[in-house]
Amino acid sequence: MEKSEVIDKAFELGFDDIGFTTMEPFESQKEILDSRKREYAWLILSGTDIEKGLDPKNIMRHGKSIIVLIDVYFSKSFPSGLEGYFGRAYLDDHRRTKGPLYQRLKVFRSFLRDNGIDSRSPFNIPHRLTSARAGLGTFGKNNFLYSNRIARKSSWISPIPLIVDYEFEPDEPTIEVGCPKWCKNTCIASCPTGALKAPNTIDPRKCISFLSYYQIGITPLEIREQMGTWVYGCDRCQEVCPRNRPWLSQNLSPNERVADKEEDFNLVNLLHMDLEYYQTKIWPHMFYQSFNETWRWKMNVARAMGNSLDQKYIPELIKAFKENNDDRVNGMIAWALGRLGGDESKTALESFLEHSNEKVREEISLALEKF
Ligand code: SF4
Ligand code: SF4
Repeated sequence: MEKSEVIDKAFELGFDDIGFTTMEPFESQKEILDSRKREYAWLILSGTDIEKGLDPKNIMRHGKSIIVLIDVYFSKSFPSGLEGYFGRAYLDDHRRTKGPLYQRLKVFRSFLRDNGIDSRSPFNIPHRLTSARAGLGTFGKNNFLYSNRIARKSSWISPIPLIVDYEFEPDEPTIEVGCPKWCKNTCIASCPTGALKAPNTIDPRKCISFLSYYQIGITPLEIREQMGTWVYGCDRCQEVCPRNRPWLSQNLSPNERVADKEEDFNLVNLLHMDLEYYQTKIWPHMFYQSFNETWRWKMNVARAMGNSLDQKYIPELIKAFKENNDDRVNGMIAWALGRLGGDESKTALESFLEHSNEKVREEISLALEKF
């Protein structure tokens, strides 16, 4: 089969770009993982066998090439009520709902199969590095992959690698950092929690994205303000990047599919949601947290409401405190009321003192100190 036929099919199905690379193991990544085992231990514990993915042969013994498809996930604009609260990569995520991207990938793999090519769609090989090896992009110092050809060379792209048992001529790798020399590491300076410690070096445990879906216990006091209004994910180091400016400077047409679910992701609805609401409206789109972890959603929402400095949330936070019995949620609600200030917040906090346990009382007392 000709490479050009595969490329034509990918574009016909609406993928934005495509590249090809070899089955060589990812030795450089192995060195990084070996030297930073503690920082990535959580990923292995969560069941993602990243070490196995460092050698594509572990996934498909008879594999001969890797095809990388690229999807621009931010090709249309998202509602302003969702921007700044949810990472853009998750707003139109079709992995669970088996939506349009899933269907296109299925058709593409059927096309390969009809031509005698078997494929695997691995989740644990290094997607961005595979893409750079397939000549599709270069790295930013914020670790994101920036396209070489599409989306005005921005980072709003998802790579989808497919290991295939057919040898295609590999494309010229572009494994390099493509940042302009004049950029004074804006991404690193702007990372609110210091997760980006140096060029291309991140401590994932400090990243707001990680914290928003894996934080154990109540968010420590010293990073609540820094986490801002992010509820799930964080785009800050991409938003401040001058390499993304050309894409961000245009008027994109609205993403109607995402606009349709804006109300479901309204902060007030999330703060009061029950399990059924989470299971049917939220989890199908943002599924990194289990059905036992709605407390983290509510805790994040309470923090985001506090950091919004929008007093309209005060009655909702007071109501949520009364309907909740989770210390982590109520502790954060107390913090948020303290941050929002005002007589109504103060009166409510004082009234909560009597019936709260020690942990929550501590948060309430801290919040009251701000008045
Ligand atoms: S996503 Fe946010 S928290 Fe994570 S490295 Fe980027 S700016 Fe920092
Ligand atoms: S902000 Fe600057 S250093 Fe960071 S990724 Fe963008 S261009 Fe590179």
